[in-house]
Parts: sequence; C-alpha cells; structure tokens
Amino acid sequence: MSTAAVRAFHQRSIEDREAFWLEQASLIDWQTPPTRALDDSRLPFARWYPEGRTNLCHNAVDRHLATRGDQAALAYVSTETGREFTWTYRELHAEVQRCAGVLQDLGVRTGDRVILYLPMIAEALVAMLACARIGAIHSVVFGGFASASLATRIDDARPTVLVTADAGMRGGRMIPYKPLVDAALAAAAHPPAKVLVIDRGLDADSSRVAGRDVDYAEAMASVGQREVPVVWLPGDAPSYILYTSGTTGRPKGVQRDTAGYAVALAASMKYIYGGQPGEAMFTTSDIGWVVGHSYIVYAPLIHGMTTVVYEGLPIRPDAGILWRLVERFKVTVMFSSPTAIRVLKKQDPAWLSRYDTSSLRGLYLAGEPLDEPTARWISDSLQVPVTDNYWQTETGWPILSAMPGVADTPRKFGSPSFPVYGFDVQLLDPDGHPVPVGQKGVVAIRPPLPPGCLSTVWGDDARFVSTYFSSFSGQQVYSSFDWGVADEDGYYFILGRTDDVINTAGHRLGTREIEEAVSGHPAIAEVAVVGVQDAVKGQVPVAFAVLRDAAGAATPAAAEALEREVFLAVDQALGAIGRPARVHFVTVLPKTRSGKLLRRSIQALAEGRDPGDMTTLEDPAALEQIRLALLDR
Ligand code: AMP
Repeated sequence: MSTAAVRAFHQRSIEDREAFWLEQASLIDWQTPPTRALDDSRLPFARWYPEGRTNLCHNAVDRHLATRGDQAALAYVSTETGREFTWTYRELHAEVQRCAGVLQDLGVRTGDRVILYLPMIAEALVAMLACARIGAIHSVVFGGFASASLATRIDDARPTVLVTADAGMRGGRMIPYKPLVDAALAAAAHPPAKVLVIDRGLDADSSRVAGRDVDYAEAMASVGQREVPVVWLPGDAPSYILYTSGTTGRPKGVQRDTAGYAVALAASMKYIYGGQPGEAMFTTSDIGWVVGHSYIVYAPLIHGMTTVVYEGLPIRPDAGILWRLVERFKVTVMFSSPTAIRVLKKQDPAWLSRYDTSSLRGLYLAGEPLDEPTARWISDSLQVPVTDNYWQTETGWPILSAMPGVADTPRKFGSPSFPVYGFDVQLLDPDGHPVPVGQKGVVAIRPPLPPGCLSTVWGDDARFVSTYFSSFSGQQVYSSFDWGVADEDGYYFILGRTDDVINTAGHRLGTREIEEAVSGHPAIAEVAVVGVQDAVKGQVPVAFAVLRDAAGAATPAAAEALEREVFLAVDQALGAIGRPARVHFVTVLPKTRSGKLLRRSIQALAEGRDPGDMTTLEDPAALEQIRLALLDR
C-alpha cells in the first residue's frame, strides 16, 4: 500500500533521524561534509550539520557550471514592463559574482544584514544569491509594505546596506519605491549607511541622496570581471531573516540557517515536488514571501532547474498568461496559491484550454486552505494531480503534503495529506494531550524541528521559546497556532488559526498590526479587526472602530469619508496589503468584564454565525451595535 510506504518513510525520518538526514545531506555540495546531522544538546534550539561547511549560492549556482553552464537558470517575464530574458547558469553566476563584489565594496561582510526592498525583478534574485555568496544575511521585505513597516524591520535587522529600486509596477500602475525607502530611513533609528538603487527607468521623479545612494548599474560596471569566491559557512550560520506577523504588533524575524535549509529544499524537490534537473519550475509567488524564497529562488536552482520569474498579475493582459508561460517554458512543476486559482476560476475557462499545458506533471498550492471546488476545478481542467501543501514562514517547506517522490498516494480534497518526513506532527489538546482520531487539536511538532525550519527569532532566543514552545503546559512542543484534525486513514485537515492572525490571499496578517495602523488615525479611539470569510481571498480584514467623537460618523456621507481616511492611514502605516475591506463605526466594542476584546464573537457575527455565550459581556449592547453596523452598509 502506497500510504504505508509514506508512513514508513516518515517513521524512519523520526526514529532514525541522524542516519536519515545524513543520507539527505549528500543531495548538496559541501566544502566540508558533515559527520553528524544534528546537535540537539540545547532543544528546542536544533543545530543541523553544525560541523559541515557549505554555501547556499555555491549550491544554487556554482556547482551547476560544469554540467549546466549553458542551461537556462532563470527565465524572466514581466507583463508590467514588457521585459523578458533568459539567463544561463553561467550568466547568472557572472551577475551574482558582480553583485557580491558591489556589496563588498559597500562594506558588507560575512554576518552583516542586507535588506532587500524590491519588486519582482531578476536583480532581486541576484542580490539574494550575492548575499548568500559572501555569507551576508538577507532580509527581503515585501514591496507592498509601507515605510513604517519597513522602518520597524530595518531597526530590528540593522542592515549595513539596503537594496531597492526606483519603482514597482502593479496592474500597469507605477508604484514608487524610493520615496518609501527614504521615509523609512528617516524614521529608522538604525538606518544603513548605503542604499543601492536599481534604476528601472520607471519613475522619472526618483531622487538620490548624495553620499548615501549608489546606482546599481554603475556599481556593477565598476566591479567588472572581479572574482568573488564563495564564503564557506558553518552549517548553522544564518542565511536569512524573513519577518512574519504574529499576535503582537511587532513582527518576528524568522531566522533560517544555511546547510539545513539547502538539504531540506533539495530533498523536497526529490520527494515532494518531483521536478527534474534541466526542467522548468514556475512559482507564482513573490520573493517577499517564504514561498518565493524557497521555491522561486533556492530550491529550483539548487536542483538545477530553470526557475520562471514572473512580474505581473494572473489575469493581465488576459487570464491565459500563466498557462502561456507554462507552454512556453515547458514547465513541469507549478506552484501557486488557492487565491490565484480562485481568481482564474472566475474567468472564461476557455483560457485554460487555449494553451498546451501537457508538460505539467503537478500543481502545488499552499499558503491558505484549499477549498474542494477550487481543487476539483483546477485538477479537472489541467488533468494533473493537485497537491495541497500546508506550511508556514517558520518552517520554510511543507509540514503536511503528499509525497509523490516517495509513493503516489490518493488525494482527498480539502486535505494536505500526511505529515512530511522530518516533522513529528501531533494534534494536541490545550493541555498537551494527543487527541483521538476525528477530534480537533492544535497542530504541534515535537522538537527538534527538521532541517530548514527557523533556528530562532532574530536577536531574540527567548522570544523563539516563549512564542513557539510554550503553548502546552509542562512540555516544549512547537505550536503552529493552527487547528487540525486527522481522519482514520491518517489524512490531515486544517481548520483555521488558534490565534488572532488572519490569512488574506495566502498572506498572514496580524490583526493587532492592522489595529495599530487604524488607531494611527487621530479620530479613532479604539478598534477591533477581525478576519471575515471571503469567496476569493479566503479572508479579508474588517474593522470595527470607536470614534473619539461619535459625531464624526453621524451621517452615511461622513462615515464614508472617514472610512476612506482610515484606509489611507493603514496604507501609510502598514501598506495597502493590510487595508480592511470595511471600517464600521460603533460606540462600544464587545469585551469581557475583565476587558478582553471578544474578537471571535465579532467575527462570528460578521460571518452570520452564532456569537456564542455572551453572559460575560461587559456591555450587552455592544454586540447589538456590531449587528446593526453590519446591516448598515
Ligand atoms: P505564512 O507563514 O504567511 O505562509 O502563513 C502560514 C499559515 O497559513 C499557516 O499557519 C496556516 O494558517 C495557513 N496555511 C498555509 N498553508 C495552508 C494550507 N495548505 N491549508 C490551510 N492553511 C494553510
């Protein structure tokens, strides 16, 4: 039975952990091969391959030069600017080497941080790989974040250099990046000394600060053909920081190691994604997210594939664009999000049959729950297996998935299948006891977390332990903060978050972060933000705000005007990505007598469900107000 094969493979990865992961280590190149896989002397901190020495850039680029120097490493298409080109591994190597030289000239040394605030351009991948080459720690900040969010991340990472572009493009609209960067640097307490600016020629008004800003093209030209050797790093040296939202307003810097990450990604290509070296992989995410880090940049390149890098929307110039790219580059493995597929599902289905997608062997979807109608529609249309992946920024690769490279198991719609090798997954009740089959529990992982997962929270080991390993009394077990259930066949189903984090279009947002942004508007005294179900995006944030002066929203026109101002305040503080779908004005929020905001009850009302037991409510009129506000507009 194929399911038994997957189970046995998983079991070995847990029970014979050391041998299992030493075997996987041979999937990558080492300067000094490891003699042991894991140092677990200080759990929950796991150090993978600590005595091995390797380099991510070497594995993603240099090691392919001998055998695939003339093969396409990166195929770039921007439907926003019309720019298209392909770089071979040799060309990518030259670009990365030059960029590494530029960073060195700007004073970047091993262990220094470099923040990348960039749109989906090939230079973003080059800059990431250049950092990896010299052992600098990159931190990519998604280009949709506003200057205040960028400033927070700058102050946490304290970068030596920040790399940005004059502008991004979305849906044909130019979005200036540089003014946002300037504002962030002005607000930050620890701004970098140098800013490297990639001039795409999009924003004619983009300005430069003399002595601080350096032009990318000029700097690249001045480095010329200088050789910049890779810096061999201890296996557990940090490779990057990626900030993610939690229940507090302060984002956490997920810190990733070097060797464990490389091994985990290489193994995932073999056992989960099934791509072959020389083939093309197309991941429709953004380099600002974890899926982009792992499956646009590092995994396909480590595996010797061609990565298709796309700047643009899935429905522009038309709803056939993704399939046109599949046909053109003969993509065998595609990775996208349920939201992107739901957007396409609303378009004319003829777009799908217009292109030859027969090269595709599998479609992988992750980042949010995959609903059955969407999964069914796309698997019927493409006639390929659709694999639902469940994972998080923290893990860097899937926790739950089918593993066609181990054995082909039947899929169940709505389920990301089984625990992936290396992850000792358990469903626990709040007291830390495993729940019986069919009963809901928190998806938990017994330490050590496998290679590739976060090694700590950047600069804050205590926060790593208190955030992730303190949910179950008396035991140090990793909490995913997701509810899950398993059926009698061992298939898992994810049932939603246990905390106040919402997931919109596959991206995680903390309700507290949005609340802080809304409260930035001077008219707002107090606010509650909840995630409300949405047919396309999965969830959208909706705000319920109490005004300092209730008269501010006395008429529908005044309320609408104020709502627009609040949108703007959120755009400026957090970025449009956090903008609530609606701001409702109320005079009191539902709280318990001890003052705890009842977000769950508000959410239930907003979704037309029963708000539950309300006997502990401080002011019983509060829920009625929410009900009325929802009816109002
Ligand atoms: P992020 O770290 O932004 O990728 O968000 C991770 C969160 O997204 C998880 O904790 C889940 O709540 C949700 N998520 C990711 N993948 C899935 C999936 N396949 N099914 C259900 N929820 C998912």
